[in-house]
Amino acid sequence: MSNATDVYDFYLYNSATRRKEKFIAHTPGHIEMYTCGPTVYHFAHIGNLRTYICEDVLEKYMRYAGYDVNRVMNITDVGHLTSDADEGEDKMLKGARREHKSVMEIAQFYTDAFSATGFIDEYIKIISKLLDTGYAYPAGGNIYFDTSKLNQYYIFNSHDKDDLAVGVREGVEQDINKRNSNDFVLWFTKSKFEDQALKWESPWGIGYPGWHIECSAISLKYNGEYLDIHCGGVDNAFPHHTNEIAQSESYLGHPWCSHWFHAAHLNTSSGKMSKSKGESEFLTVTLLKSKNYDPLAYRFFCLQSHYRKALVFTWENLDNAQSAYQKLIKKIAALRSDGEINDQDQIIITQYHEKFLQQVGNDLNTASGVTLIYDVLKAHISDAAKLKILADFDRVLSLSLLEKANELREKEANQKTIGAGDYQITGDANAAPDETEKINALILQRYQAKKSKNFRLADQIRDELKSQHIELTDIPGGAVWKKI
Ligand code: AMP
Ligand code: ZN
Repeated sequence: MSNATDVYDFYLYNSATRRKEKFIAHTPGHIEMYTCGPTVYHFAHIGNLRTYICEDVLEKYMRYAGYDVNRVMNITDVGHLTSDADEGEDKMLKGARREHKSVMEIAQFYTDAFSATGFIDEYIKIISKLLDTGYAYPAGGNIYFDTSKLNQYYIFNSHDKDDLAVGVREGVEQDINKRNSNDFVLWFTKSKFEDQALKWESPWGIGYPGWHIECSAISLKYNGEYLDIHCGGVDNAFPHHTNEIAQSESYLGHPWCSHWFHAAHLNTSSGKMSKSKGESEFLTVTLLKSKNYDPLAYRFFCLQSHYRKALVFTWENLDNAQSAYQKLIKKIAALRSDGEINDQDQIIITQYHEKFLQQVGNDLNTASGVTLIYDVLKAHISDAAKLKILADFDRVLSLSLLEKANELREKEANQKTIGAGDYQITGDANAAPDETEKINALILQRYQAKKSKNFRLADQIRDELKSQHIELTDIPGGAVWKKI
């Protein structure tokens, strides 16, 4: 435990220092956290979700460790360009064209699936001060940040200027208004792209903000001047987060964010999953659900890997995760919840809490947290104590361990109670409850038809079940069925 407050000391890799560090909050016991949110021009794909899952577990872990956390996340509905440089096309505009809708309709639609923002006054305040203090300059109708005014521009990479200039130029036209190749736009009034739909008045003309200013402004407004942790996917480190630091610190005149957390990507076998690649590689949770995957099996899959390692998505990997998750839930469902928790159990419950704090608190090692679940299941303690520990871990992991186990228990209880007299029907554990009810009713009807020697009806029902892909096996005293 830490001395100043009632919080646990945990360790996290900091991309800014490239070291794993003891986490030190600016205000003891309180964490200001900012996470870059989605650009709402399309549904979030499961790659985005990997990053959000890592951030969610991080936030929950910090609360578990005793911190009070203020977490802020933006929704980008303007100015996020397709290229990391300022020269790309606005992603929102591209989304609108794809779906034959206006940018506002697109933003509204995808924002409704997430949530909304509007901070133009804040952007104008920051940009005005950067202009007054010489960190920004107008050129060709736009306002640019002057990166040559900084003592240190590169925070997350050791690129030297020439390397980077080539990277930025690749495939895109150089913006001749820039004084330095890495300068970036704070406010656009001129864009070479077709009419930008979302525009606002500003002291520099009608236009729209650059992408990076949004996160700085929102964070300054809701997190205050000292940010403890800023999160995003690795692709955000450069130039997005680098530019956020440049403008925020120049605006504030003091260091801004102490800790940077970057989640590695979810890749497909053909490379990084992205919204821009088109429909064929576009995997959403809705798609997973339509293929009968439990979204929590995907979460389980993500938690079994470390957030700083790239994770490869394949259907086979997801199948394995789903089957492991279902087996785990089955084991938990087999525990009896009505037992007593004795003093010895209580000591072990506390020990597991400490172990979880320590192991997951070693650079957010969620895989260790998952392994601890299996250790608990094997431990020599009462079932009630096991359930209590699992509920405690689930405050961070959010795998719905106890809820899913209860659902399974109820489903199994339903399957066993159905019957007429001494006729017992055992159904398929994977079938939905209403489906189970329907099939059981048919099987019961068939049993009664056979008893009254109505074999025609009995055969008809068997054919009906077959057409519904139900395999029925008669056993002494009842029947067993499963979906095939
Ligand atoms: P976007 O909506 O493209 O701005 O991305 C939203 C968040 O998802 C950002 O933090 C990105 O860094 C992150 N992200 C984008 N693609 C992936 C991916 N394939 N795997 C993991 N995170 C990603
Ligand atoms: Zn951001």
